[in-house]
Amino acid sequence: MENYKDVLVYIEQRHGEIQTVSLELLGIGKTLAEKLNVNVNACIVGNNIKNLAKELAYYGANKVYIVENEILENYVNEPYTKALATVINDVKPEIVLVGATSIGRDLAPRVSSRVHTGLTADCTNLDIDPETNNLLMTRPAFGGNLMATIICPNHRPQMSTVRPGVMVQSRRDETLTSEMIDYHINFTDKDMNVQVLERVKEKAKKIRIEDANVLVSAGRGIGSKENMKSLYQLSDMIKGEVSGTRAVVDNGWLDKERQVGQTGKTVRPDLYIAAGISGAIQHVSGMEDSNLIIAINKNPSAPIFEVADVGIVGDATKIIPEVIKELKQISK
Ligand code: FAD
Repeated sequence: MENYKDVLVYIEQRHGEIQTVSLELLGIGKTLAEKLNVNVNACIVGNNIKNLAKELAYYGANKVYIVENEILENYVNEPYTKALATVINDVKPEIVLVGATSIGRDLAPRVSSRVHTGLTADCTNLDIDPETNNLLMTRPAFGGNLMATIICPNHRPQMSTVRPGVMVQSRRDETLTSEMIDYHINFTDKDMNVQVLERVKEKAKKIRIEDANVLVSAGRGIGSKENMKSLYQLSDMIKGEVSGTRAVVDNGWLDKERQVGQTGKTVRPDLYIAAGISGAIQHVSGMEDSNLIIAINKNPSAPIFEVADVGIVGDATKIIPEVIKELKQISK
């Protein structure tokens, strides 16, 4: 264990674009490294990615390990696992951080198992125990009612994934430089257990709920994707956008880009209508600065009423259609 040193951040790039979460991890990685008096290093994997390494220096990476190969053009679990696990086994970092993106969630568990260590997923806070120098990995447990701090005292590296948007990226500084280390890993056909036949990019219109003056926001209380239609109808009538809670996004009723809260967007519209939203702290932290908050909830003790300017106790699936009916009357 004493051979393990430094913090290693896995830099996720997609088609030559560094994902913001990786820069956020370099930020917290640097803070942890300073507490341990060690380096924060980066590992980037892909094809034709050398030009990105300089950018990592600007964000504070002391060393950048570059694994380049044609086979790594698109993300595929097995060759990427081999790349990152090889670097970890070789450089022996004491901490490895990976973004909890769809790719990171696929990659980090496989890598942690390959290098025989544990993994704490979806951390919201990372710190160093000043007595033991162990990594303190904090994440919500039991549906967010409790924060659990997890340690990995018997194995190295200590591995953690962190959701995008939770950590703050450090300032970009073009005077910073880092040591670039090329890794040549021998890949064979056996490493490519999946064949990518085609890449199709979704051509969705980018919605920026953070720019909307009016948001009609859905919570699980809306009950179904079908019931979301009346929220879209109302938002059209009052020139707003539809947003929602993570529960609604997880249920597949709403796109992730419309999620408000700690792991979604922070919004500050003139009017925020919260329909069927309980008011969990992770949601409220993303909307509490809205100018006027109108909450509709069946439960009079729902925490959302603590931040609402106007509270309506009742069934949102009945109230919203009534409001639409009234607005139609007014505009006649
Ligand atoms: P619920 O908590 O299930 O609440 C539903 C509400 O609807 C209840 O209050 C109920 O009384 C009411 N209701 C039921 N039926 C009706 C009806 N017919 N009419 C009116 N009211 C009704 N959440 C986010 O939103 N954004 C985030 O960014 C976010 N990040 C998170 C990050 C972490 C690390 C964790 C652990 C959690 C995060 N969450 C986030 C989840 C958060 O803790 C809550 O679970 C979530 O916000 C709950 O969503 P909800 O209010 O839609 O659902």
